[in-house]
Amino acid sequence: MAVRNIVTLPDPVLRRKARTVTKFDKNLQILIDDLIETMREAPGVGLAAPQVGVLERVIVVQYAEPQEVEEGQEPIEVIPKLYVLVNPEIGKASPETVIGVEGCLSIPTLIGEVERAYSVRIKGLNRRGQPMKLKVERWLARIFQHEIDHLNGILFTERATQVWQPEEPSEELI
Ligand code: ZN
Repeated sequence: MAVRNIVTLPDPVLRRKARTVTKFDKNLQILIDDLIETMREAPGVGLAAPQVGVLERVIVVQYAEPQEVEEGQEPIEVIPKLYVLVNPEIGKASPETVIGVEGCLSIPTLIGEVERAYSVRIKGLNRRGQPMKLKVERWLARIFQHEIDHLNGILFTERATQVWQPEEPSEELI
């Protein structure tokens, strides 16, 4: 595994559409392992292959929704789940939307308010090429929508109602 360089704006690769993966070979496995390591090193909670300059439809996500803790209770440590999806597609999305403040590893100087579906169904393939389906909600749904946008050359700044420079670096970059 190796940490790859994360591509940032204005690199034009971020605006291009990624290709559908057809070969589940050694190179794909190396790419996936490198994406996982690069995301963890950044650190980020999601990464799409175009963000390391590879125009293939592959994303990795690792995130755990924060648990609500009652007063006086010890917080429970949640181990974030790792998702690897090849050729992911958004299926049914909830009509309910939420506005959230997003940042992106490829746009380090800006954050912005983006409206996204509250929950989405996702289908795609796992790293061995077997079909998989997910239903995700809340922030996890936002991460998947953001990463799948990267595969289509769309950046959050194009969807944002407003963008600004953060005073402090964001913790959950995608
Ligand atoms: Zn991003």
